[in-house]
Amino acid sequence: MADTFDDRLKSVTQGGKPDRGQLELDSEECKGCGLCVEACPPKTLRLASRLNRYGYHPVTYRGSGCTGCGICFMVCPEPGAITVLCYA
Ligand code: SF4
Ligand code: SF4
Repeated sequence: MADTFDDRLKSVTQGGKPDRGQLELDSEECKGCGLCVEACPPKTLRLASRLNRYGYHPVTYRGSGCTGCGICFMVCPEPGAITVLCYA
């Protein structure tokens, strides 16, 4: 998980706005196709330099800015690679 409750709390206490969305990324399910990276409107995703066990560069969260729009989930061809939780 790249964005936790603690991350949101830290963002608030540092004076910033908390992210509206929270991602759960399973790096072992990701095939590194980059579709979500291209599709994310605020560009909060990138491919990691490390490899997962299957030899792919998995997607990773840049750390802030997710709006919870769910577009990354909708374009991802790998079930379970991305889960989006959206805060009201
Ligand atoms: S939910 Fe939307 S803003 Fe958040 S990472 Fe996915 S595409 Fe980007
Ligand atoms: S999370 Fe899905 S869409 Fe994004 S790089 Fe991995 S496989 Fe591709």
